[in-house]
Amino acid sequence: MLKKISLELGRTTLYILDRGYANSQMLEWLFKFQQDFVLRWKKNHLLVHHLKGEKKTHLLARSFRPQYSRLVQDKERRKIKRISIAWASVQHPDHLQQNLTLVIVRDKKNFNSPMYLISSLPVQKQAQAWEICFSYFQRWDIEQAFRFGKSELAMESPRLWFWENRLKLLAIVALVYDFLLHLIRNWKAAAMIIIERWCHRTGERYRNASIPLYRLRLAISICLLFCLIRDDSCLPEEQHIRKYTVYWVGEQPHQWCAVFYCPCGCKELIYLNLLPTAKPCWSLTPKGKKHGTFSPSVHRIKGCKSRFFVIEGRTRWV
Ligand SMILES: [Zn+2]
Repeated sequence: MLKKISLELGRTTLYILDRGYANSQMLEWLFKFQQDFVLRWKKNHLLVHHLKGEKKTHLLARSFRPQYSRLVQDKERRKIKRISIAWASVQHPDHLQQNLTLVIVRDKKNFNSPMYLISSLPVQKQAQAWEICFSYFQRWDIEQAFRFGKSELAMESPRLWFWENRLKLLAIVALVYDFLLHLIRNWKAAAMIIIERWCHRTGERYRNASIPLYRLRLAISICLLFCLIRDDSCLPEEQHIRKYTVYWVGEQPHQWCAVFYCPCGCKELIYLNLLPTAKPCWSLTPKGKKHGTFSPSVHRIKGCKSRFFVIEGRTRWV
């Protein structure tokens, strides 16, 4: 893959790699194809400095005092913290001919242990060191965007093996993702109303959790579902509904609603939601067959206030 990218794009890519790639073999590949990189280094791995000799990274880093500091926002902890930066020119013991830059990022109040980044990019000025540091911080945001795409927007659908179809799916996902970000960025007040109305959460932990995209997607999905249920054109017409018959709305196996007349004889229609994402929800076994069983029981809170079970097509009154 490195070979392919280096042939297609040349030296325009900057690889941001996490500690899992912190090894001599990875460095060898990156040097071989002359690619620029920022790699989070492990504290116990060895590095060579022309004055201090060969040492473990965290011992070597002690010799370099913080040079500059800056305030940054810790998104996960919702805090503003001060981080300091220092850098040094080093080599890897297996690749002594290649110059690397070790950038040490320290948290002033020690919320986190120091972070060691090694890069092929040379650093002479403060701005270059900060650029390496912030490039690495961006990695987490990009990973989160991928996770959201995969878990919430069906980006990893196992049914798509063909490249053309996959591109089409990725284009749709990109469009939906852009729409959600656009809503949060430009219509924040409206987005918050949608979230509060359609994906309300109780409890301090949930309210404070920074997951607006997840909640916004769910809220819009539930809102659309509600509109669909309210849209009578999907439902069977009332005069065609027979007594003691249950009608399923939706296609197999995605039936989302069951409609039937109340078995007490009050001539009122009952609509039961079958989708697990919306509450309350009922399940039917076996699905779509005659003489099915509903669970849990149906308890009407208005009108005749009947409460009954439907077990194997028969009504059992409570
Ligand atoms: Zn009734």
